[in-house]
Amino acid sequence: MALKKRKETFMNDLHATTITGTDTVLEASVVEEFQVSLRGQLLHQGDNSYDEARQVWNRMIDRKPALIARCAGVADVINAVNFARTHNLLVAVRGGGHSVAGQAVCENGLMIDLSPMKGIRVDMATRTVRAEAGLTWAEFDLETQAFGLATTGGTVSHTGIAGLTLGGGVGWLMGKHGLTCDNLLSVDLVTADGQFRTANATKNPELFWAIRGGGGNFGIVTSFEFQLHPVGPTVLGGMVLYPITQARKVLLFYRDYAQNTPEDLTTFGALMTQPDGNSAIAVLVGWFGPLSEGSQHIKPLRQFGQPLADTVKPIPYCQLQSMLDEGAPFGWHRYWKSGYFKELSDEFIDIVIDYAEKKTSPLSAMFFYHLHGACTRVSPEATAFGLRESQWDFDISSQWTEPTEAEQHIAWTRDFWKAIEPFSHGVYVNHLDTDDGASRIRAAYGVNYDRLVDIKRKYDPNNFFRHNKNIPLRE
Ligand SMILES: Cc1cc2nc3c(=O)[nH]c(=O)nc-3n(C[C@H](O)[C@H](O)[C@H](O)COP(=O)(O)OP(=O)(O)OC[C@H]3O[C@@H](n4cnc5c(N)ncnc54)[C@H](O)[C@@H]3O)c2cc1C
Repeated sequence: MALKKRKETFMNDLHATTITGTDTVLEASVVEEFQVSLRGQLLHQGDNSYDEARQVWNRMIDRKPALIARCAGVADVINAVNFARTHNLLVAVRGGGHSVAGQAVCENGLMIDLSPMKGIRVDMATRTVRAEAGLTWAEFDLETQAFGLATTGGTVSHTGIAGLTLGGGVGWLMGKHGLTCDNLLSVDLVTADGQFRTANATKNPELFWAIRGGGGNFGIVTSFEFQLHPVGPTVLGGMVLYPITQARKVLLFYRDYAQNTPEDLTTFGALMTQPDGNSAIAVLVGWFGPLSEGSQHIKPLRQFGQPLADTVKPIPYCQLQSMLDEGAPFGWHRYWKSGYFKELSDEFIDIVIDYAEKKTSPLSAMFFYHLHGACTRVSPEATAFGLRESQWDFDISSQWTEPTEAEQHIAWTRDFWKAIEPFSHGVYVNHLDTDDGASRIRAAYGVNYDRLVDIKRKYDPNNFFRHNKNIPLRE
């Protein structure tokens, strides 16, 4: 009865008799049959929640899928994959919708939206968790922290666990526990042929290798099983803030300090604007060892200069995980450039400060994510995430709210990137933007690229999953 009612509502809303896919026209009866096969909603233009469902984090992206399948479970994902393949529809897969390139939503085609899938179960005995692909890190952390456990997650809490894990996963706990993908034990996924598969160390091991860094190229992951670790509930966290006039001194200090900290301590650098409108430089701190031992390791950072503010104190782990949320809300316009840097040379630091001083938007920020410790000890060939050195992931994150301002902010970002690119040696695939082409995707994988191409050929021979940081079938 419920299905029948839903079907009638859908047909009433669907005034047109056809829906246009990428290169196909669907009869209403075909769409209706698909709707009835789903436990979740099927949305199309004109539905009340259609515009909300197609929004992603970066407001620069304004695409209108022909259909949005809001999946309630695995069966919906299988039906959606089979429907898109049968009707030759372009597919976009949405987890948390955070990709700056906005690849969670496509123009025309079918958006397969996993955000309603939020099941999660912690197993205390094995310290593991099974988590569905629609969860955000805020939701994941809340559930695992109820048991005093956590795994490496994103530094902005409304990021989806799915896209972040599949690209690698850089976060506060990486020094101590490795990348997010290093803590992955198993996934369930639906491949392009509509088959439901499990991939782990013993079942489909090649696929398991590829999805730990290879992104959404190989199938739609419906749930993840992670190893958890005792964390918190209280950690030492916060930031030590200096005026922008001291940026050079701070960065010269920070580059050496970060490389000599224990694995219990992760530090990030940030150039940003304070609420009073003045620019500042901050060193962000997360300490995960015994609380009584943290202060001695943070002391040099507090004492080498004269900070404007020092907010480092005992806080709940979940608070640390959301400390950066305010500077990255949904709805602003964005453009990013990013790369890995093995060292922060004097020359590089000077260029960064020069561009920071002439930034075109007060909302823009620059981040130094220091990869160190456990995440660098994993062999480059153990997972698809190949760039395993001690290094900085440096991001230029341009942000603004007025659509008409795009040109000047994008130009500043591109000029900035052009000046520092010669110092860079690769890139984190999850930080690539729309105009980063094939050569940069290749650069993200180092020695692992050719193996990824082979696995792509095997599991997705028609490049069904291509609305992503695409690993092509051939070059
Ligand atoms: C503000 C901000 C902060 C960030 N901070 C961090 C950070 O601290 N650490 C870090 O590592 N990264 C970080 N990132 C990058 C982040 O990892 C990527 O943007 C990632 O894609 C987000 O995942 P999502 O599920 O929210 O993305 P979505 O936009 O929903 O998905 C991105 C892509 O991932 C693939 N995908 C998503 N879900 C699935 C699935 N279930 N199965 C198969 N493929 C899927 C698809 O190809 C999709 O196009 C940050 C990004 C932003 C915007």
